[in-house]
Amino acid sequence: PAQSMEELVSLCKRRGFIFQGSEIYGGLQGFYDYGPLGVELKNNIKAAWWRSNVYERDDMEGLDASIIMHRMVLRHSGHEATFSDPMVDNKKNNKRYRLDHLVKDQKADVQAKVAELMGESVENFAALVAALNANPARASQVLREAGVRDAFSGEVGEWTEPKPFNMMFKTTIGPVADEDSYGYLRPETAQGIFTNFKNVVDSTSRRLPFGIAQIGKAFRNEITPRNFIFRVRELEQMEIEFFCVPGTDEDWHEHWLEKRLSWWEAQGVPRSKIEILDVPKEDLAHYSKRTYDLMYDYPTLGHEEIEGIANRSDYDLGSHTKNQAELGLVAQVEENTDSIAKLTIPHPETNKPVVPFVIEPSAGVDRAMLAVLSEAFTKETLENGNERIVLKLRPHLAPIKVAVIPLARNREEITTVAKAIKAELQGLGLGRVLYEDSGNIGKAYRRHDEVGTPYCVTVDFDTVGKGEDPALTDTVTVRDRDTLAQERVKISELGGWIQARLR
Ligand code: ATP
Repeated sequence: PAQSMEELVSLCKRRGFIFQGSEIYGGLQGFYDYGPLGVELKNNIKAAWWRSNVYERDDMEGLDASIIMHRMVLRHSGHEATFSDPMVDNKKNNKRYRLDHLVKDQKADVQAKVAELMGESVENFAALVAALNANPARASQVLREAGVRDAFSGEVGEWTEPKPFNMMFKTTIGPVADEDSYGYLRPETAQGIFTNFKNVVDSTSRRLPFGIAQIGKAFRNEITPRNFIFRVRELEQMEIEFFCVPGTDEDWHEHWLEKRLSWWEAQGVPRSKIEILDVPKEDLAHYSKRTYDLMYDYPTLGHEEIEGIANRSDYDLGSHTKNQAELGLVAQVEENTDSIAKLTIPHPETNKPVVPFVIEPSAGVDRAMLAVLSEAFTKETLENGNERIVLKLRPHLAPIKVAVIPLARNREEITTVAKAIKAELQGLGLGRVLYEDSGNIGKAYRRHDEVGTPYCVTVDFDTVGKGEDPALTDTVTVRDRDTLAQERVKISELGGWIQARLR
């Protein structure tokens, strides 16, 4: 695995996985563009998730809801009131920080001083941040007294009181920009699932338990986007809302925890690198009854959230439904006089309308990319003493499945055969097959090791009957990324040979 974030950032840029957004104008913080290989890897991760969670189960449906949503959706979901992080400003240079990030980034002695002054401990960091938040006037004093420094100037800052900053992006809809014309870019894909609950039930005749899966972009105006694609402002999520009979929710929660861990394992992210955090009650989001955070051990960053698996009880459907009072909701919800739909489903035993409980496994695509890349990243010393970087991606995730390399790029008899092989392999539907004539063969191998191409197929003079050994006519050399073994395979058997190994 990768030893540092820098290694990954550098590989991603060098080989065309990920670029800074709007780079030619100096870049836009918190936005990234996925390059030629990044888009393939990302699509492969999403396809693997969809296959496992939609196609391979019999209790799931898919959905692709719109990104811009009616402001009532985000009001009744609770996001208008509570989707915020505490921030503080440094009055000396007008820089703005997320409170917890600011404290976490200080030297150990400064952190300890902040904790001491607040009567808290650094070990219980969430409680420390909560305490700072609960007493804004004291907090700004403590930050100064403890000598909390500004990351830009390096000086001890003059800190304002922490105040909440709502992270939703607002936009106006239609030609007139006024109070009545705004909507929100969704901060999570989940809300599109809740607002379509009734549509999906009515159009598919689903009964409990069943789930709806969605992959798509979400937007969060993070105060301090950082750590490459770990914390971005435009992100992508893979989310499931699994609807079940109240009372069965805890069992389903365990079911999904297990399922998700084994899915990560199948993507090359082993359980031993993921800590399961049973989120303490006081840190739970406003909708959650219980949440497991999967904390992957990222290089440089340490254990950070890659996926949250939340028991959202009947909070969301209960918040978005009409006739709330008559539904016997368990969650505490705000009154809703705007909704025109009753979000219930018949109880499978009694047939009485019930608002189901929801288990939500919510994973970030960008954080998945980072974890998958990090696990695959390998530095090896070869027998001849040379070092090579190789991405040992699971084959189903590899951006390029096969590179077909003509040994001489200006010999027509060779390039014609190589192009025909490329076209044939491409037709098998394995994913991207690349005709690779950009450099010498050694360079091509090095490049394909670094981008994780499982197989390189080389067409040489023997292939076309112009080499030393006539027995090698109509065969090619196939090189294995991981073992470096080279095998001579008949062209007529090549498709099957590769298919069997990429499965
Ligand atoms: P964090 O505490 O790290 O801000 P969160 O608890 O707000 O994350 P959730 O609201 O649970 O995150 O979102 C579900 C998933 O979406 C996360 O597990 C993560 O993979 C992804 N995600 C959330 N925010 C971001 C972001 N700013 N950039 C990239 N991925 C994100």
